[in-house]
Amino acid sequence: MSMLLDVQNLESWYGPIKAMQGVNLTVSAGQIVAVLGANGAGKTTLLNTLAGVLDPFKGKIRFDGTETQGLDADAIARRGLVLVPEGRQVYPFLSVADNLTMGAYARRDKRVAQDRAQVLDWFPRLRERLNQQAGLLSGGEQQMLAIGRAWMSGPKLLMLDEPSLGLSPLLMREIFGIIARIRQETGVAVLVVEQNAAVALNHADFGYIMELGRVVAADSCEALKAKDDVRDAYLGVAGHGSSGTAQRWKRKRNWR
Ligand code: ATP
Repeated sequence: MSMLLDVQNLESWYGPIKAMQGVNLTVSAGQIVAVLGANGAGKTTLLNTLAGVLDPFKGKIRFDGTETQGLDADAIARRGLVLVPEGRQVYPFLSVADNLTMGAYARRDKRVAQDRAQVLDWFPRLRERLNQQAGLLSGGEQQMLAIGRAWMSGPKLLMLDEPSLGLSPLLMREIFGIIARIRQETGVAVLVVEQNAAVALNHADFGYIMELGRVVAADSCEALKAKDDVRDAYLGVAGHGSSGTAQRWKRKRNWR
């Protein structure tokens, strides 16, 4: 599989706060890669830096053969590295149809209509609500629209920031099911940040775990699921015969 995204030694700050450092990460063509970690671990910072919303202080981002660090967000999205931000951020006063059209605003090719049909095929609920204001959709439907709008911009790599946030377990599985379907049908790669480790590890091929702005583990999802520390901290399955939550959190983790 050819390498689509290659991130080396990436570091980002918010003013005086170092939010992420020494991050190395790769995504191959057609791969689903998950980034897991607790609140404040630096996951959103990573995606925002890759998308050009935030300029890295250090490090290299190579996407589809070009270095993209320092380019502005628009230029990066036009190259096919497209972010679906946390909290959906659809245009609430525009209709579903207009939100999809906005996604394709920078495109000049003739496949826009085909991509729109594709989105409505993946998300039939959006078809039923094409003329409805996006702000009136349910949380799950807004997430579908956010993914659909990102699709309309012609991604080669789709980055999703916590797509399951605030969704019921059923909707969460539905959204991840569609993500898997998108990859399967189109071969587009996905980089997904997720708090719900179980659902992410079940759908991704490879996973990274971040803590305090650093990557502390990187492995295939199968291997991650088998690690005691991952099971303990993220999957709610106690390894080591440990008793009680407090004791589990106190134990030093080496992510082996
Ligand atoms: P969450 O799941 O809560 O979104 P996260 O893993 O995505 O967490 P980030 O949002 O990337 O974490 O935050 C990483 C660190 O940077 C945290 O310490 C956070 O407090 C800090 N941080 C994030 N955004 C800002 C900001 N706009 N200004 C200052 N510090 C910030």
